[in-house]
Amino acid sequence: MLDMRFIRENEELLQETAVRKGLTVSVGELLRTDDERKQALSEVERWRQERNRLSERISQLMRTGDRAEAERLRAEAKAAGTALTALEPRLEALDARCKELMLLVPNVVSPDTPIGVSDADNVEIRRVGTPTSFGFEPQDHVALGESLGLIDIARGVKVAGSRNYYLLGAGLHLHRAVQQLAVDLLVKKGFTAMDVPLLVREETLTGAGFFPGGREQTFELPDDGKWLVGTSEASLVSYYADEIVDVSQPIRLAAVTSCFRREIGSAGRDVRGLYRVHQFAKVEQVVICRGEAEQSELMLQQITANAEELLTLLELPYRVVAVCTGDMGQKNYKQYDIETWMPSRSGYGETHSSSNLRDFQARRANIRYRDEDGKLRYCHTLNNTAVASPRILIPLLENHQREDGSVYIPPALRPYMYGIEEIRRTG
Ligand code: AMP
Repeated sequence: MLDMRFIRENEELLQETAVRKGLTVSVGELLRTDDERKQALSEVERWRQERNRLSERISQLMRTGDRAEAERLRAEAKAAGTALTALEPRLEALDARCKELMLLVPNVVSPDTPIGVSDADNVEIRRVGTPTSFGFEPQDHVALGESLGLIDIARGVKVAGSRNYYLLGAGLHLHRAVQQLAVDLLVKKGFTAMDVPLLVREETLTGAGFFPGGREQTFELPDDGKWLVGTSEASLVSYYADEIVDVSQPIRLAAVTSCFRREIGSAGRDVRGLYRVHQFAKVEQVVICRGEAEQSELMLQQITANAEELLTLLELPYRVVAVCTGDMGQKNYKQYDIETWMPSRSGYGETHSSSNLRDFQARRANIRYRDEDGKLRYCHTLNNTAVASPRILIPLLENHQREDGSVYIPPALRPYMYGIEEIRRTG
């Protein structure tokens, strides 16, 4: 959410940003509604003052015994009451509409954000490693996972419907190993690891900037008034909602959780295998820092580097892209995606998303700090995936497969793999 004064001063820029982000909102309608709201508010206040003035005067007249004048003023007070009864619902409606429209206005984007319509317009920043070449016909992760007894998609679909799966034996060990490696890496870098609520209130998702835009992507439990989070970012950021925090050092939080997504609008996309599923696990990094441009930019580079370090430990080739306006969420100011080489796609596939939201999310969630002058200011917030699994199992299995159908396990994962150094078919 942005400051109303900022919106007023930047109407054109924000309307253009909304179009570039593919969002439907009329900033002009918001400003007009806000003008009407202010006018209605001043009328309501005027009538309230008038009613109060009259009732005080009536009390005085009653004390002095001037009943006739009191009666006359009573009629005037009644008229003021009638005017208020007519005006107050209008003020409420205008207030509600303003809030509704405010929630749709996008964050501005950084000057170095590429302008584009879809992920095809994202701009490569760097490549690390080279795409794996094979001297044999490589298998995709589904064939590998099924032949090695790691993945069972058919039974996942039987039990839970499309975009579901089971992980078994070394498949589960690998899934947990990448998560634990990521948590260990983040803890060493000063992150506080947390277990967080996954079933949260609607206000939490609105405050963290996921609603109203992301409502249809989110699983709802209507009987309980709760929603299943699509990412622990919502729970991590909201931990400090409505609080004044100490950001003399940036607050670094990490959670390892399941994530749930409806994937509405993805029909027919990435239907094979583990790329796009309804339930997956993610280790998430969240940073809350001072509302200073240089600091949050530095934090963006750091959380991106953390994910890159993990990919290096996993010995996977990847590239970092600057995400363009059309592929960027409403709340993002600047975003990098990390895409890891996936041989079955003959290309890079997104595995991480690293974003600087500046003060957009903190305004909604109301997370502030005191600066040196004692003035309350909104924090900047950032987030990035540390690892998301099972998607990361795609490049892990596919890049590390060998001709005999076995899979090499990078040394960094072995301490979490119950002594397994490679995965082979047994029996
Ligand atoms: P996001 O929170 O949308 O930025 O996504 C972060 C990461 O989570 C992505 O880069 C993917 O690695 C993973 N991810 C997102 N959606 C899915 C999904 N439906 N299935 C599997 N992994 C996903």
